[in-house]
Amino acid sequence: GQPPECRGGERADRGGIVTAERAADDLLAGVPTGVLIDGVWRDARGGARIGVEDPSTGKVLLEVADGDAADMVAALDAAAAAQASWAATSPRDRAEILRRAFDEVVRRADDFAWLISTEMGKPLAESAGEVRYAAEFLRWFSEEAPRISGSWRRSPEGTSRLLTMKAPVGPTLMITPWNFPLAMATRKVAPAVAAGCTMVLKPSELTPLTSLLFADLLQQAGLPAGVLNVVTTSRAGEATLPLLGDPRLRKLTFTGSTAVGRILLSAASEQVLRTSMELGGNAPLLVFDDADLDVAVQGALDAKMRNVGQACTAANRLLVHESVAEEFSRRLSAAMSGLVVGPGVEPGVQVGPLIDARAVDKAERLVDAARAEGGEVLTGGHAVPGDGHFFEPTVLRAPATAAFVQEEIFGPIAPIGTFAETDEAVALANSSSYGLASYVFSRDLSRVLDVVERLEFGMVGVNQGVISNAAAPFGGIKQSGLGREGGAEGIEEYLETKYVGLAP
Ligand code: NAD
Repeated sequence: GQPPECRGGERADRGGIVTAERAADDLLAGVPTGVLIDGVWRDARGGARIGVEDPSTGKVLLEVADGDAADMVAALDAAAAAQASWAATSPRDRAEILRRAFDEVVRRADDFAWLISTEMGKPLAESAGEVRYAAEFLRWFSEEAPRISGSWRRSPEGTSRLLTMKAPVGPTLMITPWNFPLAMATRKVAPAVAAGCTMVLKPSELTPLTSLLFADLLQQAGLPAGVLNVVTTSRAGEATLPLLGDPRLRKLTFTGSTAVGRILLSAASEQVLRTSMELGGNAPLLVFDDADLDVAVQGALDAKMRNVGQACTAANRLLVHESVAEEFSRRLSAAMSGLVVGPGVEPGVQVGPLIDARAVDKAERLVDAARAEGGEVLTGGHAVPGDGHFFEPTVLRAPATAAFVQEEIFGPIAPIGTFAETDEAVALANSSSYGLASYVFSRDLSRVLDVVERLEFGMVGVNQGVISNAAAPFGGIKQSGLGREGGAEGIEEYLETKYVGLAP
């Protein structure tokens, strides 16, 4: 069901395409640009379209459908209609669809990486890393689907049998952000497929192309019509609201900012929807006096600069023991100032652009705020003049208690503060309304374990700056969200537990 008029062939501005290479043209031409409803790609009902820009040039790559509430409701119609038959499929059949999708994403890894870099901006090597990470959710949940199980026990009184069984939650609305266009989709879609839920996916309007190509690939991998429906829209709030009030919808899973998560949670309360919320973060990165500084600097670089700092797991507050702060700051500044900044698709580039002009303004504002609070810029600190939304990799020293670090930075700025005692370090780390990722660098095992136990975060990286893994539960506490994605926990988010009491 692929009418050619719903493919990328009708892009708005051919002259705006960054590369003249035919391969890139062909790839874009193969991206479906409509809404996917009940297995068919079609235009948005109102006929409106959204221009998707390359953030390293600001030029429009393609136009995609700008769906509205009616398109969303049509998507839920299809999801609701498909739910019962989809839930009745065998776990093995669902697993094999995921496995085929995994193989196909891996086979087309270069295409996906190029598309991610082009619409989102991150360097190709990082995009390739995202594709591997994203694909692993397909493989992991293909292995989890046949392991869905229940339990049996005798009641403690011995008077009855207590059985539990699992059932798919049902039609799920999925809302994803722009920063990991493929991984944020597979982290939700794969466990939902494994569990037997149908879906309405609303990707970010800033980076929808990757999700659209992925949805197309899933259809080709054998996903039945109506199981995954995709609607892109520039009016997310208005378009999704009717779904949150529709009794056929059973779950909302959202990855994005805490501000939007709060709005959605309140709307989801109307129907008491199951919710999974992967929200903002404000990761502390603790470097103790016994840390291997080479490892700590590399870890800080990874945790800070992955995605140019535009990750919910990004190190937001570097807290370094006062005895090593000078040395650590010097080495980190040297490493940061040596990074090559440029368009993500150019060879050798290590740092891509920020997503838009607003993100650059925010980075400038945060550097000003740091200075106003007594901060000192060691390297960087400025927007890069010219096309695209570039900002220099920046290291600054600022008081660990500075107010500006309470905000999620979401850019290439590493503020270094100091501490003297372990208790102080833990208290500083925990002094945030967020509780997603955190990092600890130390060679003292008992110190590491003590600190890990006291950190109020859903995830802790020890002597490493990248911790995401499809086999591990990703998620946060406090205002970083509800629920976990990945690991054994990931599929539970899409399953209900039913208890059956059997007379003896
Ligand atoms: P965002 O909250 O602005 O948007 C996220 C998604 O929500 C987009 O698809 C957007 O179109 C949609 N949206 C916006 N307003 C909406 C509304 N009123 N109703 C329904 N949908 C709406 O976030 P973003 O800028 O795309 O992403 C950055 C944020 O995401 C950061 O705060 C980051 O920490 C967070 N994030 C969290 C995780 C995690 O797993 N915890 C992962 C990646 C990103």
